[in-house]
Amino acid sequence: MSEQPRVEIYTKTQCPYCDKAKDLFDSKGIEYETYNVTGDDELFEEMVERAEGRKTAPEVFIDDELIGGWDETAALEETGELDEKLGLVTDGGSETEHRKLIIAGTGIAGLTAAIYAGRGDNQPLVIEGDEPGGQLTLTTDVANYPGFPEGISGPDLVNNMKEQAKQFGAELKNGIIESVDADQRPFRVELTNGDVYTADAIIAASGASARTLGIPGEDELMGYGLSTCATCDGAFFRDEDMLVVGGGDAAMEEATFLTKFADTVYIAHRREEFRAEQYWIDRVHEKVEEGEIEIMKNTEVTEIHGSQEAGVDHVTLVENEQGHPTDRLDDPETNEFEFDVGAVFFAIGHTPNTAYLEGTGVTMDDEGYLRTQGGDGGGQTETDVPGIFGAGDVVDYHYQQAVTAAGMGSKAALDADEYLEDLERAESSAETEAAAADD
Ligand code: NDP
Repeated sequence: MSEQPRVEIYTKTQCPYCDKAKDLFDSKGIEYETYNVTGDDELFEEMVERAEGRKTAPEVFIDDELIGGWDETAALEETGELDEKLGLVTDGGSETEHRKLIIAGTGIAGLTAAIYAGRGDNQPLVIEGDEPGGQLTLTTDVANYPGFPEGISGPDLVNNMKEQAKQFGAELKNGIIESVDADQRPFRVELTNGDVYTADAIIAASGASARTLGIPGEDELMGYGLSTCATCDGAFFRDEDMLVVGGGDAAMEEATFLTKFADTVYIAHRREEFRAEQYWIDRVHEKVEEGEIEIMKNTEVTEIHGSQEAGVDHVTLVENEQGHPTDRLDDPETNEFEFDVGAVFFAIGHTPNTAYLEGTGVTMDDEGYLRTQGGDGGGQTETDVPGIFGAGDVVDYHYQQAVTAAGMGSKAALDADEYLEDLERAESSAETEAAAADD
């Protein structure tokens, strides 16, 4: 057997994406060395130098070659190149394996579905997706999940659920679903790394990914002072002024969290009212009174300035007291100005990961959220394609809570179980009829 390449991962304390990177290599049985840069300036400088100026963790190296952070590592995993670099590719191509039930996603919805489907003896194969563990792995403290009066960290909750799902026979596999062919039964499910499965039923619980603004400077500076995960990257910009964009719970939670490190945290929100719940608004206002947060309402970012070497230098902001200033750029009341900050965090919601279901006949809305049956009684998670079910943030653009995702996950597994039983009954009566016709 060929020797395993040397894998090194620079990590920091409280870093969900570092955990994801480690989980990915663990799942492949690959050993790695970790260097925790938290509180170690020398090691941090070493990481920045080796990572060509990037200041985010994790930074992954394979045989001294810079792979990059979690996004870059996940992208290589998606194409199968990571396995090539790790010497894990075997000749002979992939064989098609049949599964009764495939669950897309290991967030709260997918894992709850896996627990129920495992207990229902449907031996689910759970495909982790490009954000294993889902959005909750980016949350430090989940205080409203029933059953944990002291709260529980997002990663702990997810890991507990993974363990529970495995105990009931679920198999978790790293990978990303590229496409589903619903013109054939069983469904043909192709992964981005080339693996192919067939499945009698599919539960889409592939969640949603962080939204970005598509403004100048964004692509260049993502990972170099611009981030979508304050808990991952906040500590790298100690004593800087930081800007959080958004007005929902995530923006308020991230801004509050960042006060631990920032000189001042600024929140830029595009209108007058916050979308966030009162609990978070109150916490932010406490910090405003303490002089740690400043709020800029009716304000949007139109450009991020800086360089990969020096990070974010400043941003261009526009402000108009009627709100949504980027829709009013020609309005003489719109005020454009430059604003110095050392780091920018987007917390502007998410886009559902449903592209792999395009062409299947599953109905989606303009943003890509799946339409399910809903309503009362059974079958609430059915999509328009019999055998494909939807649960969690791929369906729910409104509640988006861990506990509602769990509820939908359990419903999807129960709906899928009923579907699979009907299918089995139909197949066995077709066999009986065929046998009778032969006699
Ligand atoms: P939300 O969709 O709730 O909020 C997104 C925010 O970003 C909104 O204020 C929105 O503005 C703003 N926004 C969206 N697009 C743009 C844009 N193009 N330019 C400028 N601003 C933009 O997403 P969240 O991620 O905050 O929350 C999602 C769900 O997760 C919610 O249900 C929330 O309750 C939950 N959550 C709970 C937490 C907790 O309690 N611990 C922590 C984090 C999230 P506008 O308001 O004008 O639409």
